[in-house]
Amino acid sequence: MVNYTFINKSVIKRTTVIEGVVETVSPLRIGGSKENFDPSSLARDSILKDVQGRPIIPGSSWKGIFRSTGERILRLKNIVVCSGVGKDYCLNNTQKEREFDSGLRENIIDQALRLFWDYTCLNCKVFGTKSVIGAVRFLDSLPISYSLNTRSMIAISRTEGAVARRALVTVEYVDVGSKFNFKMMGYNLPNYAIGYLVTIMKNIHDGFTQVGGHKSRGFGFVKFNIVKFTDLGEKRIGDEDVEVKGIGDLVEGNGDEFFVKMKPFMEAFNNAKIPYPKK
Ligand SMILES: [Zn+2]
Repeated sequence: MVNYTFINKSVIKRTTVIEGVVETVSPLRIGGSKENFDPSSLARDSILKDVQGRPIIPGSSWKGIFRSTGERILRLKNIVVCSGVGKDYCLNNTQKEREFDSGLRENIIDQALRLFWDYTCLNCKVFGTKSVIGAVRFLDSLPISYSLNTRSMIAISRTEGAVARRALVTVEYVDVGSKFNFKMMGYNLPNYAIGYLVTIMKNIHDGFTQVGGHKSRGFGFVKFNIVKFTDLGEKRIGDEDVEVKGIGDLVEGNGDEFFVKMKPFMEAFNNAKIPYPKK
């Protein structure tokens, strides 16, 4: 009998929180309403702001960044993973969605859990997929201190038929040295999944992943500064999990130091034999 604790959220056996301060080390641009953006006018392309006019990084952006960065990491390790974009999600790819849905509908929870366990990748389990909530939640990042700036850029529009039009656009961005809070909560995460998430954070911190828009112009590099890891409950989730020794309920560290302290979790991820998804 497989232990489904990781994907079964009816009983919470472990709560993991990673919170800290994100600092921009290059300009950062999380766009506002792109739909109304008209490059033919002398436009000002504004960033996303809260009701008080402060720049924010939505939790949904973090989730997208973590998922796509994780996808790249898993593919490098030859682990099967879906993109979660459009029709490319595991339950669809394995043609198990109908069976899964009927399990849920008829309240055959064991069947739904078994199918979800067997036929979805780590990303579907951690970040969720159609009709299934993931094991992690990202809060919106609000600024602790920030400055805004603008830069003129040439925008190319193809909306007017085949002829490309060029227009000068004033692009707004969050300037270098701005600080945001960051908070991610995980439920029933195995050690290797915690290690996976920390590995993704390290990729962002080390500049292998950029956040937001204008990446090719060098935007979107951020660092995690003061980071706090709080881990309450069971210390091993599921039969396939790898034991992590020498780490308590609380780990704190500044930037690089945090990732050094969290190495045992990242090793658990590297050493885990992930038994799903089935072909
Ligand atoms: Zn998947």
